[in-house]
Amino acid sequence: MSLDVNTLFMVTIYVEAILGLLLLFAWAQNTAITAVCWWGFAHLIRAASVMLFGMYGVAPDLITIDLANALLFTAFAVTWTGARVFDGRPVEPVYLVTGAVLWLLVCRLPVLADAYDIRAFIASGIITAYTWLTAYEFWRGRSEQLVSRWPAIFMLFAHGALFLLRTPLVSMLPWSPSNKEMFGSVWLTVLSFEALLFTISIAFILLAMAKERTELRHRTAAMVDPLTGIANRRAFLYEAGQLAKRHLAKPQRTAVLLIDLDHFKSINDRFGHALGDRVLEVFTEAARQSLRSSDLIGRLGGEEFAAIMHDVDSEKAVATAERIRESFAQVAQEVDGRPVCATVSIGIVICEAPALDMPELLAQADQALYFAKERGRNRVEVASLEMLLDRKEEQDAAAAQAASQTAAAKSAAA
Ligand code: GH3
Ligand code: MG
Ligand code: MG
Repeated sequence: MSLDVNTLFMVTIYVEAILGLLLLFAWAQNTAITAVCWWGFAHLIRAASVMLFGMYGVAPDLITIDLANALLFTAFAVTWTGARVFDGRPVEPVYLVTGAVLWLLVCRLPVLADAYDIRAFIASGIITAYTWLTAYEFWRGRSEQLVSRWPAIFMLFAHGALFLLRTPLVSMLPWSPSNKEMFGSVWLTVLSFEALLFTISIAFILLAMAKERTELRHRTAAMVDPLTGIANRRAFLYEAGQLAKRHLAKPQRTAVLLIDLDHFKSINDRFGHALGDRVLEVFTEAARQSLRSSDLIGRLGGEEFAAIMHDVDSEKAVATAERIRESFAQVAQEVDGRPVCATVSIGIVICEAPALDMPELLAQADQALYFAKERGRNRVEVASLEMLLDRKEEQDAAAAQAASQTAAAKSAAA
């Protein structure tokens, strides 16, 4: 296959410019991800650099080699800075221009004036350094689970490796820089073609990363309680439903805990809503530390929380609930220097049945919580058949009393 390098240059300039504008346009639509703006500019700078390379032989070498390379290195440095910004790291202005400055200094060194190999090696080294640094930045941020992060790391690593191998390859491929037949060399064609494919792929991968992050953030915002950082009601009930499905395949004893802060209204009234919020955060931390990482916890609303423990017996569930109650009572004696003395009441239900009926279990845990409140708060109660019957009797009696009061009111009115 033979490729005309001039055509490749024209296509590359056009593609770089279009991709740069595309990224800037995407950024303008969602300015939250600033890195996309950096990446857009990187492509535009690369377009300018390729344009200068393309003027080789027409314009002085100072422009078509020295300046063009300096611009090219800056473009890679801008992509690297974008990767830092993407993962919340600061911009490093010095390192942003280090490659370009180093190159311009090298070009001024008389000893290297005709040392094409060494200069080519330095140029490749600078590109490889920035490209691998970009891959490293993405790798460092891998705790954020973006699928598109991995092809980005791979592409950057491969591109960097190819540039590092450029100098050894020069000796193997038919390129004689001394006679300045640059545009006829197979090597330049190969490199230019690879650069074109790389720039197209990386632009789309970077865009995909930004898009994936935006979607992930939306999904997380819809599922996480912003104050405490744990699952909100919707996410908790969804996860509970998933657990119930898994439970059908492999039934295990399961405990459902319903937790409600005691006299929370009075805490708000005495210390203010902001401190009330802090108490909710302190409770979440205490509960998380007492639960296993495999347990589910969520904020059902207001000052009411729920937890699900899979594969536990009654003693273990009660011991965990007691640990949550005690540790919270201890840490909440004083919150932000105020004598809050907050406590919680916890209702537990243990399920040994092969199917988990989550709404029913939560209702039973709620009955146990009711008894914990009735019996003085700051305590743990386990739902039992007896308790449920007692509660049912109480509710029936209350309903009967309400009905007789209504009937009496009606007859008095008649
Ligand atoms: P009990 O011991 O019977 O549970 O009494 P309580 O005061 O805790 O319960 P009640 O339901 O009367 O009051 C709950 C209070 O929780 C009322 C509401 O203002 C407060 N609350 C709900 N959500 C939040 C929140 O996000 N932050 C703060 N600070 N307060 C909240
Ligand atoms: Mg309460
Ligand atoms: Mg409540």
